[in-house]
Amino acid sequence: MVPHLHAPQNLPGLSSAGQLSLVHWPHQCEVIRDRIEHIDWTPPRPEPLYTPMGLEMKPSYQPAGEGTVIYLTEEANKDSGFVYSQVRGLSPSKQILHQNGDNTLIFEARFESGNLQKVVKVNEFEYQLTLRTDLYTSKYTQWYYFQVSNTQAGMPYRFTIVNFTKPDSLYKRGMRPLLYSEADAKKHNVGWRRTGNEIKYYRNNAGQGGQQYFSLTWTFQFPHNRDTCYFAHCYPYTYSNLQEYLVAISKDPVKSKFCKIHILCHSLARNIVYVLTITNPHEGDKDTKRKAVILTARVHPGETNTSWIMKGFLDYILGNSGNAQVLRDNFVFKVVPMLNPDGVIVGNHRCSLAGQDLNRKYKSNLKEFYPSIWYTRNMIKRVMEERDILLYCDFHGHNRKKNVFVYGCERKQQAKAPNLHPRVFPLLLSKICPDKFSFPDCRFRVQKSKEGTGRVVMWKMGISNSYTLEASICGSKLGQRRSTHFNTKDLESVGHHFCDALLDYCVPNMKYYLCLKEHEEMVKQQAKVNSEGLNSDVLDRDSSTQTSNSSDSCDLVAHQLKLGTKIKTKTSGEHIHRIAKDRSRESKNVSFKMEVSTSTSLGQEQTTQGIETLHKIFQELDPVGREMCYASERGGVRPVSGCHPPKMESRSREKEEKIHHRVKLPITASVKQVGECFRFWFSGSEN
Ligand SMILES: [Zn+2]
Repeated sequence: MVPHLHAPQNLPGLSSAGQLSLVHWPHQCEVIRDRIEHIDWTPPRPEPLYTPMGLEMKPSYQPAGEGTVIYLTEEANKDSGFVYSQVRGLSPSKQILHQNGDNTLIFEARFESGNLQKVVKVNEFEYQLTLRTDLYTSKYTQWYYFQVSNTQAGMPYRFTIVNFTKPDSLYKRGMRPLLYSEADAKKHNVGWRRTGNEIKYYRNNAGQGGQQYFSLTWTFQFPHNRDTCYFAHCYPYTYSNLQEYLVAISKDPVKSKFCKIHILCHSLARNIVYVLTITNPHEGDKDTKRKAVILTARVHPGETNTSWIMKGFLDYILGNSGNAQVLRDNFVFKVVPMLNPDGVIVGNHRCSLAGQDLNRKYKSNLKEFYPSIWYTRNMIKRVMEERDILLYCDFHGHNRKKNVFVYGCERKQQAKAPNLHPRVFPLLLSKICPDKFSFPDCRFRVQKSKEGTGRVVMWKMGISNSYTLEASICGSKLGQRRSTHFNTKDLESVGHHFCDALLDYCVPNMKYYLCLKEHEEMVKQQAKVNSEGLNSDVLDRDSSTQTSNSSDSCDLVAHQLKLGTKIKTKTSGEHIHRIAKDRSRESKNVSFKMEVSTSTSLGQEQTTQGIETLHKIFQELDPVGREMCYASERGGVRPVSGCHPPKMESRSREKEEKIHHRVKLPITASVKQVGECFRFWFSGSEN
């Protein structure tokens, strides 16, 4: 049974120290008592990638015995498997292994999400770093996050991390490490920023017995003397950060009415896995007609960027905008923001304390080993019993590719109704978020090796729109954001755009129907290629050798609607991948033009003509959603006569005012439940 909290209690006063003390660690983990905090900051302009000069050095690996070991943590991996946990972990032993009074840097990573196993001082300003493998495994090194103090400003430091195991890395393509200076945060209100020159990622000479290791090296200068700084692979987002966020929701008199926070289950270390239910209070039996949207994140702890996307999503959906109200009116959101809290706490890259990748365990019935996975699947099954699930999406970070994109699932013979096709939602997202989200990067094949993933299992359970959202931990290759890093605001914006895409999907407008049409064109193109026996996959854009002869589908629709956009015919002989990209770019422009032209420049006659044509297209394209056949207010198009009123509720002002009124209804379950939850933590007992 899914555990629930019981008697409502007053929400106790929550101190930050109180929250941190309730984090459970594997018993042998040493944890410093300092609270690590970082300020939120966005760089004034996107930070550029590093451009390799070709002259970067490749420092060789220093074997044991050479150099001075100045930092070493071995306790955590002493046991071969997880035994038991304790609140706050073990008090740490002193870690300063070198002589006091010199200028040697002092390293520390024994804090939440920290990862650094060993540091060897090679010479005065050069250090060799080794990362800790995921606990109870001998592999998975990628995530790093550590503190450095006793700094000297302006000196030429070099760090080299020597035990990565992946041959490919975004560090080969311009990604720079993140630096945080406490002095800069205090004096200048500056937070995490990119750093590093002479960046090189290469195979080193540390490998033995067939195992290969790869080094990341970079040079940098500290901004201040005697500063405390941090380095990280991506913007940290800890379990405590999540708890603080959830506490704020539970304390908010408005948000707590439509966001209920429950315990989904406990992790192996007895940390809480939260599930949020977000929907507006409903009247009568209307609620069961609301479709569900399921979102999960941080199954892989090192993919911290996904927590920022999730934060963006939650900020939006819990906000007071009219769009958020409409979404909460039309959907029930079930959100598991952190599937693997233990992994996040101990600073793992990929695994839980079972030493396994949880995103391969969605078929497993081993509830005790993989509780968050078992309970998530169970929760989704229950939701399916009472309502349709429109979409499932598990958020991930990608360590080799740039851009944001999705993996979906489809059968060879996909359903005829295009609005049910798994490619439509990502296509929509690519129109809304053209500088970050790449439709050509999306893939829809179900690989054997991915059968245990959330996406494939949920798809087989019957959810057509079942996705893995992949966000590069580096940045974008698209539009104005080409060759720049993502920052936390960019990641949050992906969460906002996800909501916008859902809104366009549930309250279809011009953009939605253009996407359907574009998709239909792609299907036709595929059929043509198939019939010509070219054996290429137009729909999966990784095909790289075939040619195509197509017109831009959005242009085609625009032409049909006589809305003043010009037809651009693609010549044959072009690369299919290129066509997909061009189409993605152009259709964005077209849809923009259409919205503008319908609302501003058309006479009544033209508008009516446009509406009627649009109506025909709707009927042709969307037999299932015919009842929703009307165009958005934003496009300036009025409802089409002969269509039924929409099932979904539109974003009219009156409606929004009504919603505003309705959300003020007092429903306090979530506050009480969370209050109860924190009461348990304070008493130190387990539910
Ligand atoms: Zn992942």
